[in-house]
Amino acid sequence: MNARVALQLTGVERHYGQGETTLSILKGADFVLRSGETVALVAPSGTGKSTMLHIAGLLERPDAGEVLINGVSCGSLSDERRTAIRRNDIGFVYQFHHLLPEFTALENIMMPQLISGLTKAEASERAAALLDYMRIGHRGDHRPSELSGGEQQRVAIARAVANAPLVLLADEPTGNLDPETAGYVFQALEALVRQSGLAAMIATHNHDLASIMDRRVTMEDGKIVELR
Ligand code: ADP
Ligand code: MG
Repeated sequence: MNARVALQLTGVERHYGQGETTLSILKGADFVLRSGETVALVAPSGTGKSTMLHIAGLLERPDAGEVLINGVSCGSLSDERRTAIRRNDIGFVYQFHHLLPEFTALENIMMPQLISGLTKAEASERAAALLDYMRIGHRGDHRPSELSGGEQQRVAIARAVANAPLVLLADEPTGNLDPETAGYVFQALEALVRQSGLAAMIATHNHDLASIMDRRVTMEDGKIVELR
């Protein structure tokens, strides 16, 4: 019994021009991520993790190959359609939180829901529930600058899943945190992913954190390979 494929990459290529030379970062990367599955992406700096996550998250277009979200091939879609898929089906967490500084934690989590057409009351209720789940319910009225690094990242994670996406992509979400904080933020993230049954791919340098995921993959010669 296989869960549905939430995210699929086939033959994804990305090359950067550097003056006379071309830097080939992705050279035919293939990848399948199913609903309910968690995958750690563990690879050294400069191997193309961010590039791959940005392409998977429809933030960039590949030079060749396909990105399928929930079976829909996204390459030939208009920017408008890609934005809609990104908004509804994909949650993205960055290494730095990227929260809106002038809004409170609660409002930051409400924002994507309001854009998707939920009422203020609905968005606020779900945002509060997510803050509670991340154990920062008492921080809802605070602005990002009034929160610790670990709290900021938990708000960013809550915001990423606010619209109940199909796929969560996280690019070294605990990379800026001290080891202890990184541990509990990562565990909170993992618990949330498990509870909601979404598919998650998380880039991390931390092997302990990676070990609690279902699968581990790395980047090798521009391809994604399974770690056993
Ligand atoms: P990682 O996230 O694994 O550290 P990246 O995907 O950020 O790797 O980068 C992979 C390689 O691609 C690096 O050598 C980086 O310098 C290069 N690179 C990334 N973005 C660009 C760009 N816009 N232009 C040129 N080179 C880039
Ligand atoms: Mg990176």
